[in-house]
Amino acid sequence: RRSRRRREAEDERKRKSAAVLEEVEKAMSTPTALLRGIADAMVEEMERGLRADPHAPVKMLISYVDNLPTGDEHGLFYALDLGGTNFRVIRVQLGGREKRVVKQEYKEVSIPPHLMVGTSTELFDFIAAELEKFVRTEGEDFHLPDGKKRELGFTFSFPVHQTSISSGTLIKWTKGFCINGTVGEDVVAELSRAMERQGLDMKVTALVNDTVGTLAGGRYVDNDVVAAVILGTGTNAAYVEHANAIPKWNGTLPRSGNMVINMEWGNFRSDKLPTSEYDKALDFESLNPGEQLYEKMISGMYLGEIVRRILLKLAHDASLFGDVVPPKLEQLFVLRTPDMSAMHHDTSHDLKHLGAKLKDILGVPDTSLEARYITLHVCDLVAERGARLAAAGIYGILKKLGKDKLPNDFSQQRTVVAMDGGLYEHYKKFSACLETTLTDLLGEEAASSVVVKLANDGSGIGAALLAASHSQYAEAA
Ligand code: BGC
Ligand code: MG
Repeated sequence: RRSRRRREAEDERKRKSAAVLEEVEKAMSTPTALLRGIADAMVEEMERGLRADPHAPVKMLISYVDNLPTGDEHGLFYALDLGGTNFRVIRVQLGGREKRVVKQEYKEVSIPPHLMVGTSTELFDFIAAELEKFVRTEGEDFHLPDGKKRELGFTFSFPVHQTSISSGTLIKWTKGFCINGTVGEDVVAELSRAMERQGLDMKVTALVNDTVGTLAGGRYVDNDVVAAVILGTGTNAAYVEHANAIPKWNGTLPRSGNMVINMEWGNFRSDKLPTSEYDKALDFESLNPGEQLYEKMISGMYLGEIVRRILLKLAHDASLFGDVVPPKLEQLFVLRTPDMSAMHHDTSHDLKHLGAKLKDILGVPDTSLEARYITLHVCDLVAERGARLAAAGIYGILKKLGKDKLPNDFSQQRTVVAMDGGLYEHYKKFSACLETTLTDLLGEEAASSVVVKLANDGSGIGAALLAASHSQYAEAA
């Protein structure tokens, strides 16, 4: 009789587990027809943002970049890239059309977590101090003309309301950053003051979002780059818009006729987004509730956390990891996306690597084969939804640009989207799914002219290039 009762309990557990999974699958499903609707909603939101509708969630920020690098950029430039978990300082000696990048050096520093939630002064002092140390190591291969100040392109990967190419105020922090007193402040002024405190004599000539930097860096090596997408800790896109298609632009029409727009698509929202109870809870408990809803379904900061929440539910309701819920599973953000990716790529028949990860992260000594397969399936659901939603966003941009059809004009055959970010670069199942979905949305024919290209770390060099081209403007003026 005891064995019968045990069997019944086991059946009940399986039934509950299947019910939870079924609900997740339903809530998170992204049929192609839904993605098409999301792409159309994205296009509508783009138009709304370009009109400066104060309620537009997709801000469509004007970057003041109306010319992308040509290859003629010349001289020594620095860049500073702040926005994810690391920040980077870069210097590059540009040699003009023939020689291009003569020499490049960089240093990557991880940001001490307490600085991401500390004060503005502490953060900027830390950055400026690292930059100052880096400048001191400048070698003979780099040349600064006599009497000229060092110049810097500042890649700042947060939404900024720009007031010129080299100034702008922070709209809000995103990702893991939450610092009092910076919102509404000019971030270039903050950085410049911090550099002064370090005794560093340097001028910020360009302030750019990482998407804009990536677009610039991408264009430098490939003339057909028209958009850039970041899929990393956060997510966002920038693209080249016709200046006369931007109703809110009331400056003079740039000579190029173009203006790069930093979309800030991470804040996209729509009833069409396949939102589950886990997404709602994640948002509610986040540093920025109600903000960046699209980003919270797609980007590297959140995918692992969504998986954790689903596993926790399965542990509670269906004893996924045995009779007790592993206490560590209750811990916010304990499951990072790189670990999720490692589990998801386990191809061993008994999922032993996945099991080892679970043991590592959650401290569960051994997991049943069933629990491992369920974990794998949850990773699959969450990654696939994220990748498919990102593909829908890109498809939306291509539609807005009229590049979703095979061009008649064969001189404009390629449309290149420069991609950057650790999620896209390292999470192969994610990037593979994104690509198949995009092809699916475009159709084989149109897809043949669209190229998604990894522009590894293009944003730093892109900022240096933009600093260079805007330094030349200053000289000409
Ligand atoms: C920020 C964007 C940034 C993106 C990728 C988002 O959270 O709002 O400005 O481009 O992350 O780094
Ligand atoms: Mg970055």
